[in-house]
Amino acid sequence: MKQKGCIGIDIGGTNLRLALVDQEGRVLARSEEATLPAAGLPFLLSRLEFALEGLRETARSAGMEVVAVGAGVPGLVGRDGVVRASVNIPALEEVRLGEEIEKAVGLPVLLVNDANACAVGEHRFGAGRGCSSLLVVTLGTGIGAGLILDGRLWVGADGAAGELGHVPVEPLGRPCGCGARGCLEQYASATAISGGSGDAEAVAAMARGGDAGSLTLFAEAGRYLGIAVAGVVNLLNLEAVILAGGVSGSFELLEPSLRRELSARSIAVPGARVRILKGSLGNDAGVLGAAALACSSLPL
Ligand SMILES: [Zn+2]
Repeated sequence: MKQKGCIGIDIGGTNLRLALVDQEGRVLARSEEATLPAAGLPFLLSRLEFALEGLRETARSAGMEVVAVGAGVPGLVGRDGVVRASVNIPALEEVRLGEEIEKAVGLPVLLVNDANACAVGEHRFGAGRGCSSLLVVTLGTGIGAGLILDGRLWVGADGAAGELGHVPVEPLGRPCGCGARGCLEQYASATAISGGSGDAEAVAAMARGGDAGSLTLFAEAGRYLGIAVAGVVNLLNLEAVILAGGVSGSFELLEPSLRRELSARSIAVPGARVRILKGSLGNDAGVLGAAALACSSLPL
């Protein structure tokens, strides 16, 4: 019998990542190119179609059949399959992206929010393996999160669950793009840490070199993360909270103040239970999670 595989896609504001994945979560081939969000939907779809065909060809020559595609998108994916509130790629808004890709490549397509794809990836193949209840926080330009409860992805009544970036941590704090004030995203995203430039890596490099101001920026980000995480942990009694996304590369700079705040604010039993971990899949979490969801939605 022919081996079956899935293709995972991570549609980011900057990069379009695709990976051919087998049923054990091994990446057999990958492709990556610039998203160019300003070029519009037809351009994005034709790039996707081209990249998908390339990976299908690779699969064919390896004797594998691609049976489904999973795509993680930066936006809210409604239960009706329509993408909403995609801040980084406005061209995707109000589009039935899954159907569009299905039409282009003739395979079943499962659409999922990118943070949720990342959470499924870390849960199935990464730092969250073996946990049945966990939160995966994606720290990047903004902050997202995916919640796994009793081994299943929890997307909420409208597919909008996991917006940890808009959990309030300062009642009268900084204004946020969502219209509220004092959201976590305004204190712990790459944008917040870098003072707007988005280059939190540069701040991290200075912090590692001993720069006091840069160390304080990370300590503050960690403290605010600890406040938000304590709320989630007290509410849900999770086994693990995993930090993923670009800023999680600076895990060691965030960790001490996050843990301090968490232990000060969490009640005894859930506080002692929860493990704070760094994601182990890096950029592959999203494509692996999207592929796994697509594969598991099929009667294989
Ligand atoms: Zn907000």
